[in-house]
Amino acid sequence: MKIVHAGSELFPYIKTGGLADAVGALTAALSDNGHEVSVFVPGYRAVLEHRDAAGATRTMRLKIELADQFLSGDVRMFSPRPNLKVYLICREEFFDRQGPYGNGERDYEDNADRFIFFCKGVVEALRLGDFGADVVHSHDWQAALLPLLLRETERRHGTTLALKTVFTIHNIAYQGVFPAKIFARTNLPDELYSMDGLEYYSQINLMKGGILFADRVTTVSPRYAKEIQTPEFGCGLDGVAQTRADDLVGLLNGVDNSIWNPAVDPHLPARYSAVNLSGKHVCRLDLLKRSGFAPEFKGPIFGMVCRLTEQKGIDFVLANRDFFAAHECRLIVLGSGDRRMEEELLELAAEVPQKVSLAAKHDEAMSHLIEAGSDFFVMPSVFEPCGLNQMYSQLYGTVPIVSRVGGLVDTVVDADEDPALGTGLMCDPNAASLRDALQRALVLFSDRPRYLAIQQRGMAKNFSWSRAASGYERLYQESL
Ligand code: ADP
Repeated sequence: MKIVHAGSELFPYIKTGGLADAVGALTAALSDNGHEVSVFVPGYRAVLEHRDAAGATRTMRLKIELADQFLSGDVRMFSPRPNLKVYLICREEFFDRQGPYGNGERDYEDNADRFIFFCKGVVEALRLGDFGADVVHSHDWQAALLPLLLRETERRHGTTLALKTVFTIHNIAYQGVFPAKIFARTNLPDELYSMDGLEYYSQINLMKGGILFADRVTTVSPRYAKEIQTPEFGCGLDGVAQTRADDLVGLLNGVDNSIWNPAVDPHLPARYSAVNLSGKHVCRLDLLKRSGFAPEFKGPIFGMVCRLTEQKGIDFVLANRDFFAAHECRLIVLGSGDRRMEEELLELAAEVPQKVSLAAKHDEAMSHLIEAGSDFFVMPSVFEPCGLNQMYSQLYGTVPIVSRVGGLVDTVVDADEDPALGTGLMCDPNAASLRDALQRALVLFSDRPRYLAIQQRGMAKNFSWSRAASGYERLYQESL
């Protein structure tokens, strides 16, 4: 098949979260399976500075209509592996910046223009480049306008740019909502600013457009596909999601085993596997040392790696600060984002410096070391579309402590509820329930044989992307 993907992040070129991992691994798996895969991403500074992009060639010049202006740009291409081409939609004014969405303090004010330009650039490239795509698959709000723009462009030009369109919701909490006046920048017919179109409480909502106008809609876990149809998790788009219930499916993300695999992980000081865990101990020592703790410490290490946002349940951890002060344990957090959470975590680390540490940054190598060197991985999310770290944890022999939401439910089994199959500990998304799970973790840690059995079951799990990719292949084939 000829498959075109479009999204705002792509590992290893630009990443703020799981979206990058998912799009990177899915497109790699599809190209390995012999499909002709093209991936469109914005030509961010970080991507253009990546060594793979050094040989990128300019393949097209763009003139993109945004309301009554024409903005120029270009398309550059490089091919990191057979059957896979990465296309960059470039315009310095929009994408030659430090971060993809904002300056760290807040989002860029012209994000609507930036991502409308991106989507229009993709459509124009498909038209000029004669891609003959079987499927155009777009991801999250930044690329959500694509299905609708494609169909409108086809209508205007009397051509076919894609046989089918697929839209994947990686996180329905981020919808791309902008003032109504932005609608003019789409140059879509006025009737599409309506309840059956992009209009949303007198604003425009790009994700709504993706959900309504793609031929098929997916989310990143079966449980989340159900949850987003409820008011509790739908973030206001539950009704819209319900209208697509027949075309909506949850396909669990996978793990890229070439990157997240303790047996080959180049970020670790020692590698290990389920049959020989001695390398995990070396990782533990290194993690303790790097976090400023004495390596002789023998008690449980709780690790956390996440964006600091409400979603990740940081407040439940903070509400349990006395737990970490009272028990002989270590809490090692890697994450940046929300200032208030960062400050409160730093306060906690200052209160009990011998027990808690925070590295407030994005650090790929450190994220691997925390997965490898910890005994428990703490992920008490308020909601979690799929979640990757709980899967990485299991494969790294680190028992995940997760809340019973979204993809966490689809990937972790509570060891107290199901002693034969358990691979982690589960709680409800609140502070009291997390505390109970942390207590149970202490008990589990002191029962070595039981801990080891749970660890082994986690390490034996198969979360591979080849399984995940075949779900998408089936979906593409069915829709065609
Ligand atoms: P989300 O997409 O909501 O951020 P996921 O669990 O799906 O959550 O994926 C998060 C990804 O981002 C993981 O690969 C995780 O290791 C990574 N990550 C998050 N925060 C950091 C950080 N501060 N440094 C390095 N990697 C991080």
